[in-house]
Amino acid sequence: MRRARLLTPHGPVETPVFMPVGTQATVKGVPQDILEQLGVQILLGNTYHLYLRPGIEQVRELGGLHRFMSWPRAILTDSGGFQVFSLSELRKVTEEGVTFRSHLDGSLHFLSPETAMAAQIGLGADIIMAFDECTEYPADLQRVRASMEMTLRWAERSKKYFEEHKFEVPWNSHHPSAVSRQQNPDTGKQTEGCTQALFGIVQGGMDLALRKESAERTIEIGFDGYAIGGLSVGEPRALTREVVEATLEYLPQDKPLYLMGVGTPEEIVEYAKLGVDMMDCVLPTRAARHGLLFTSEGKVSIKQARYAGDQGPLDPNCDCRVCRRYSRAYLRHLYATNEVLAQVLNTVHNLSFYLDTMQRVRHSI
Ligand SMILES: [Zn+2]
Repeated sequence: MRRARLLTPHGPVETPVFMPVGTQATVKGVPQDILEQLGVQILLGNTYHLYLRPGIEQVRELGGLHRFMSWPRAILTDSGGFQVFSLSELRKVTEEGVTFRSHLDGSLHFLSPETAMAAQIGLGADIIMAFDECTEYPADLQRVRASMEMTLRWAERSKKYFEEHKFEVPWNSHHPSAVSRQQNPDTGKQTEGCTQALFGIVQGGMDLALRKESAERTIEIGFDGYAIGGLSVGEPRALTREVVEATLEYLPQDKPLYLMGVGTPEEIVEYAKLGVDMMDCVLPTRAARHGLLFTSEGKVSIKQARYAGDQGPLDPNCDCRVCRRYSRAYLRHLYATNEVLAQVLNTVHNLSFYLDTMQRVRHSI
C-alpha cells in the first residue's frame, strides 16, 4: 500500500485514486461543479464514444476535451480498444488494427495503434493509453500468447507514434490548432509546453507466466505508467485478485500503476492495499441509475417498497449532500416515479461513497 501525488498538466491527483467514468464527456447526471465539490481530481473519458460522437476533430477544434466539457482538472482516456471489443459488431482484428462497425449506425471504422494515439492526442487528456487487445475469457494458452504478442507489437507502435506527435495536444500553444493559451483555474499555471503521459498495458490473460513476460517486455518498451488490462472480463473474482497480485510484483514501484475496470467498494480497498494507484469502474454510476446504492451498512436497493415510509437518510454515516438532505422515502419515490432527479441524486451519493472510501484508504497510509 502506498500514497503518492501525480502531477498532471491539469493539476495534482492524490493516489490511490478512484476515477469516475465520464463516457460521453459527462459523468451521466452529474454537473462538473458538483464533481469538483465531491473532490474528483481525475475523470476517465472513452475514446471510442467520443470518436463516434462528436468526433475527434470537432473536440480538437473546440480546444480539446478539457475545454469542451469545461473540466479543468485531469482526464485519462482509454484507447478505444476495450469498447471496440465489448460494444461493436463485426469486429475484424488484423496485425494492422481493428475494423469495426459502430454500435450506433453500423458505419465502418478502423482503429490501429496510430489512429488510437492520434485520437487521444486530439482529445488531449493528461494520461492516454496504448492501444491493446483485451484477450477474451476463457481462451487457450496459445491464443492468449498470440494476443499478448500482438499487444506488445501494438505497444511499440503506440509509443513510436506518441513520441512523434505528443506536442500536438490541443492545449499546447506551440501547435497551430491550439485555440489560445489555456490557464488551469486550479493551479493558475499555463498548460503550454508540457504534454500528455502515455501508459502501457499488461495483458497475458489468466496465465501468471505470460503476465510476468508481458509486464517485463512492456517495461522494456518504456512508459510513464503501467496498467493491468484484460481483467473483469467474466473470470471469477478470486482469479482476478490472484492475477493482479502476481502482476504487481513485476511492475516498477516508482511509476503509477493502474488497474482497469475494477471494482466494488470492497475490491477498490483491497487493490489499493496491494499497491494499485489508480482504478476506474462504471459500477458506482451505472448501479446508481438502476437504484442500487452502496452504503456503510451494505447495498441498498432503493426501489424496494420497504423504504416507502423510511424517513432516515440513505446512509447515516455518509456526509454527502444527498444523505444530509433527503430521506430514503423521498429517494424511493423519485426512483419509483422514474424522475430524472433520482439518477442525479443516486449517482452523487454512490460517487461520494467511492471517493470517501478511497480518501479513508489514503488517510490510513
Ligand atoms: Zn451519501
